[in-house]
Amino acid sequence: TAVPTITLNDGTSIPQLGFGVWQVPAEQAEEVVTHALQAGYRHIDTAAIYGNEDGVGAAIAKSGIPRDELYVTTKLWVSDFKAGSTHQALETSLQKLGLDAVDLYLIHWPSPADEKYLEAWKALEELQAKGLTRSIGVSNFLPEHLDRVAETGSVTPAINQVEIHPALQQREIQEANKKYGIATQAWSPLAQGAVFGDEPIVAAAEAHGVTPAQVIIRWHLQRGRILFPKSVTPARIEQNFDVFGFELTDAELDAIDALDRDERTGFHPAEFN
Ligand code: NAD
Repeated sequence: TAVPTITLNDGTSIPQLGFGVWQVPAEQAEEVVTHALQAGYRHIDTAAIYGNEDGVGAAIAKSGIPRDELYVTTKLWVSDFKAGSTHQALETSLQKLGLDAVDLYLIHWPSPADEKYLEAWKALEELQAKGLTRSIGVSNFLPEHLDRVAETGSVTPAINQVEIHPALQQREIQEANKKYGIATQAWSPLAQGAVFGDEPIVAAAEAHGVTPAQVIIRWHLQRGRILFPKSVTPARIEQNFDVFGFELTDAELDAIDALDRDERTGFHPAEFN
């Protein structure tokens, strides 16, 4: 299977479909990620706060897959940048992952009650210059936070990773990302299962002989977003990667676009401090 890649504003490229490991228990992470790599995934999305970087690292080491064929993202937790220990935080993540560098390092949340995320951004610029991460980006940044980074930073984020699924499409954020040349990653791309019964999704699944999860993954891919659905179930891990044998029609894509209804599974970034 050839997963399409997206070229980022720093010239690097990223596989459009990856595997997310939030809420994968630490003791299960090695096994689950091993299965994902066997199924063909080459892009893993983790974070320091997920507590499973060790297991991700163990699976990568065991896989024998050449480092340059893998794309690994981790994220800087809020308390680390509030404490001014961003460099230390990435060193710790790299040690757990068993890597010399990650492909992408993200500020996990802006936590905008103060503007410490702007200092964190400067630290990420330094970490990129030192070669400890190839690309740098942000997560859960609202347009106003992107504006502040643009005003005070030297490097434009390559990525903004935000909650996006059929029930929460975040058009304003996607527009702001586009304005800055920032690629959009969709977290909780399946809305954690909450939209599997929505009529246009069920109808497209029946029309193509696939599952609602596969329909939603295709919708993201065809709309140009990067995503990394999560599952710990082997058959679902495989199913979520088996999405390159069919294509949604424009009418099907439009019908899913029309499901937007401001329904979140997670926190609002302005309220998460
Ligand atoms: P998701 O939308 O990927 O949903 C995962 C859940 O959907 C599974 O636990 C399972 O219940 C169900 N599911 C998955 N595949 C299925 C299938 N084929 N059939 C039926 N049910 C299926 O949710 P997520 O894990 O919240 O998001 C994906 C990834 O996004 C995370 O693992 C993490 O890497 C990232 N994320 C980032 C942030 C952030 O703040 N940056 C926040 C949340 C998630």
